[in-house]
Amino acid sequence: MSQSYDTVFVGSGLGALASASLMAQRGQKVLVVEKHNIPGGYASNFRRKDFTFDVSLHSFDGVVRGAHSFKVIEACGVADKVEFLHHPTLYRYRSPDIDITVGHRDLEGYKQTLYRCFPEEIDNIDRLFAESKRNYKDLCGFLYSPKPFWMRFVATPFAYPRVLRYGHETVDKYFSRFTRNERLKEVLSAQWSYYGLPAKDLAFGYFSYPFIDYLENGGYSIKGGSQALSSALVEVIEAHGGRVELESGVQQILVDRGRVTGVVTRRSGPVKARNVVANVSPHAVVGLAGKQHFPSKYLTRLDKLKFSVSGFQVYLGLDCPLSELGVGPEEYIHFFSPGKTQRTQFEHIQAGELHQDNTSWSINYFSNVDPSMVPPGKSSLGLFTLTGPDVWHSLDKLAYRRKKAALTDLLIANAERVIPGLRDHIEVCEAGSPRTMTKFTQNPQGAIYGFEQTPQQSGLFNRFPQKYPVKGLYQVGAWTFPGAGFIGTMLSARLLVDRYF
Ligand SMILES: Cc1cc2nc3c(=O)[nH]c(=O)nc-3n(C[C@H](O)[C@H](O)[C@H](O)COP(=O)(O)OP(=O)(O)OC[C@H]3O[C@@H](n4cnc5c(N)ncnc54)[C@H](O)[C@@H]3O)c2cc1C
Repeated sequence: MSQSYDTVFVGSGLGALASASLMAQRGQKVLVVEKHNIPGGYASNFRRKDFTFDVSLHSFDGVVRGAHSFKVIEACGVADKVEFLHHPTLYRYRSPDIDITVGHRDLEGYKQTLYRCFPEEIDNIDRLFAESKRNYKDLCGFLYSPKPFWMRFVATPFAYPRVLRYGHETVDKYFSRFTRNERLKEVLSAQWSYYGLPAKDLAFGYFSYPFIDYLENGGYSIKGGSQALSSALVEVIEAHGGRVELESGVQQILVDRGRVTGVVTRRSGPVKARNVVANVSPHAVVGLAGKQHFPSKYLTRLDKLKFSVSGFQVYLGLDCPLSELGVGPEEYIHFFSPGKTQRTQFEHIQAGELHQDNTSWSINYFSNVDPSMVPPGKSSLGLFTLTGPDVWHSLDKLAYRRKKAALTDLLIANAERVIPGLRDHIEVCEAGSPRTMTKFTQNPQGAIYGFEQTPQQSGLFNRFPQKYPVKGLYQVGAWTFPGAGFIGTMLSARLLVDRYF
């Protein structure tokens, strides 16, 4: 083998790039191997004509100087290389009975809005937020403590008790400690599509950090799109002697007597490494290393884990400013919810019955936050819905194309009801389906959030571990603790490096 590294990364999603930047800054020799021709995985951009679109980012919570989430950005060395643009409002929630706007960094204003919608729940709302803020403090204490990981772990029952107290609950169960009002609970979890599960199934331990982080510290886009963050991380890695190998791919993880010894990449062939960190699905890791290296019990448990839901996004470039279509500069994310419970909506999502009367969907007015990604005088927006993967992956080519076109048309028709005349201004239209997600990231079944974030698959004890039963083999990114999302995957990087490197 010609080359030798301390650590090789399989994939260049945010989890890998963030960990590689941390390790490279500590003097480790790192190699990041990526299959695609650009780094970032879901955290990347694409261009159509003169329009640039962010593949995934709708909202990045809490990335403002002084806030906890920003510490990860600073640690990765990109705080001065990337500009975060705050959203004018956090979101607008629109359903048949309630239409509310949640302001930027305005938890108190949000509470006042909830008081008006649910006047009989004022005390409960106060108690719920007081405890949720204490829980957020405990979580941040645990996640950002400078103490060694084992010390934090031992101290958790005394120093961060809520991490354990609520760690096994669903969001609904936690909210039920304070209120029996089903409607209030659904309104409080209006952002549920960000986490891929209804509140009745979603792990509170996972939801509780961004829940308060968004409200207290705001939602952000990245100037120039999330590619700017991924490229800045690559810059840090390379400035510290690391290497990022694009249009390559890991074809094999080499294991000898229970220990990784390196990888085989498409471009470089065999490469020696003391550690291999996977940023791809654990199922892919087992395939790359060979089943024989894992205990059979481990493989049985892995096979029982459920993948998260997938998503479908339509990216539109418009030939006029949003203001010409009656969209004000204060608009950013609108969640549209039909008069059905989240659970019923989720059943429709998994069955592929995505009519607007069945399921939530959302609009993101991208160019209201970052006009630099569109030509002057033009604008862009995204239409998004969750979707189950099964209804997409089994289709033949023609049926797939038809389904993709039909759902694109349906989402545009939904949007036209709130933006009359939209169709006449579409200059560019692109759509990403679960199959697109798999094609560009290899994530199985187009999973957009790693393993499903139920209490059984989330939290300190239940999330897929960062360490494999093969020496020197680790996991980072959405599939492991704490879970998916921009901050989730970057936090997983920080925890991995703090704990094992
Ligand atoms: C449409 C959409 C919207 C989203 N919106 C938000 C949002 O608003 N806010 C938020 O916080 N999160 C959002 N997310 C989630 C977030 O984007 C992801 O959780 C996160 O980016 C995943 O990062 P990761 O580190 O797990 O790696 P991934 O992004 O999954 O990247 C894995 C990488 O590994 C590469 N790879 C695979 N196999 C190999 C191989 N054999 N060799 C080499 N490379 C390989 C892939 O090409 C890919 O680049 C969204 C996701 C999607 C899809």
